[in-house]
Amino acid sequence: MRDKIESLQQQSAALEPDQKERAKIRDAVVKETEKFLNNIHDFEKSPTYFSKVNGKEIMDYPIADEPIGIEQSVRLITDNIDKTGITGSSGGHLGYIPGGGIYSSSLGDYWADITNSYAGVYFASPGGVRLENHLLNWMRDMVGYPDTTYGNLASGGSIANLTAIVTARDAYNIKGANVPEHVIYLSKQAHHCIDKALHIAGLRECVVRTIDLDDQYRLNIQSLEEQVSEDVKKGLKPFMMIASAGTTDTGAIDPIDEIADLADKYKAWFHVDAAYGGFFMLTNEGRKKFSGIERSDSMVLDPHKGLFLPFGVGVVLVKNGELMRKSFSYFASYMQDIVVQQGEISPADVSPELTKHFRGLRMWLPLMLHGVRPFRACLEEKLLLARYAYEALQKMEHVEVGPAPELSIVTFRFVPPGTDANDFNEALVKAIHDDGRIFISSTTIDGVFTLRLAILAFRTHLDTIDLILEILKEKAKELYK
Ligand SMILES: *Cc1c(COP(=O)(O)O)cnc(C)c1O
Repeated sequence: MRDKIESLQQQSAALEPDQKERAKIRDAVVKETEKFLNNIHDFEKSPTYFSKVNGKEIMDYPIADEPIGIEQSVRLITDNIDKTGITGSSGGHLGYIPGGGIYSSSLGDYWADITNSYAGVYFASPGGVRLENHLLNWMRDMVGYPDTTYGNLASGGSIANLTAIVTARDAYNIKGANVPEHVIYLSKQAHHCIDKALHIAGLRECVVRTIDLDDQYRLNIQSLEEQVSEDVKKGLKPFMMIASAGTTDTGAIDPIDEIADLADKYKAWFHVDAAYGGFFMLTNEGRKKFSGIERSDSMVLDPHKGLFLPFGVGVVLVKNGELMRKSFSYFASYMQDIVVQQGEISPADVSPELTKHFRGLRMWLPLMLHGVRPFRACLEEKLLLARYAYEALQKMEHVEVGPAPELSIVTFRFVPPGTDANDFNEALVKAIHDDGRIFISSTTIDGVFTLRLAILAFRTHLDTIDLILEILKEKAKELYK
């Protein structure tokens, strides 16, 4: 048996490369990623969108006993992943809500992966759990929540919203039989991950009131007020009101203070989805625009959007944190006394996850290395870039702009006389995608095909905006002959 074990040990030794072998594979990865970074601002060399390559070659290499080595692997990644679809880390990414990918964050991930600290429970990594709670406390203070707050670094905004919704459900003691008498209010522009979360949380049979919009694409507060009082008359129970603090489509901020008043009046849970807009609270302007947000019961913000981190971290904060623990500290309830004694809540007790990526390090290291100041400046820059783009678009021929940007999303469309505007704008988006240098996306609001510039990538600067304005002009002219 010893022989057999020793032979297996030898065969598995490849999993533990020595220092020299580590250097070889690391250098190959660093070399290629450095090349990537050095070209990232050059939209000719490094387009933001590759419409014609699909990464199919990956499938030609089966997951098999025989390895293919670092060189071939690096080439496969470069050709089939980096050069397909949207370059998520590009400043030319002005579609959807762009992500980030700041370099220092990747080193936090590198560290977390190498040491593989288990930051799910305090016992296993007191420092890791403290670090994540320290970050959560920082965000708690930023949004003006009290110290009864608990939170969690989730994988993204969708899971963060789900976590808040499940907490609210349990706080209101909503169970199968009484689901249909409870009402949820949100606007037509609420993110679809909320619907998904309601489904997963078993709340699909709740009455969901989709409130119409005002002329700025915000939740229409009058309509909400009328709807709630009508529902109460009918004997229904207002359960939850959801505001978007920065909608994904247009960046509109729902009337937070007024919704908070109604939630108070009807004793409903007030949840704010600030996945896109939340970190604008680091800026003076954002602070003002989000006033009243501290009155909510729970909130979501996405560091992989507004803090420019690589994809994979969203935050949920719940003001009455104890409620979060009641919903999620299921399997580990035998540990609750220890947790309370230590004064540190463990992620596993307030989230659906048990074993998890130690996400804290990818967020903490950049904040320690750079301080908050450059993040604030970068966010302020984005607010101004949106205004700059808006002004330029207003002056552009045959362009109809949407409302002035509340945050960093600009909506507009071309309306050249004698053309079908919806068709024209659709063709224009396609032409911009084929060009590839800058990526934009479109949406349909009330049946109107609308173009948008979503400015949130940290690498988006004045020259990026000038370039997309140029491209828009050029492509519109080509199409409108
Ligand atoms: C992006 C976004 C979400 C979803 O978050 P993910 O991180 O993509 O899961 C939810 N709400 C809003 C307003 C968003 O912009």
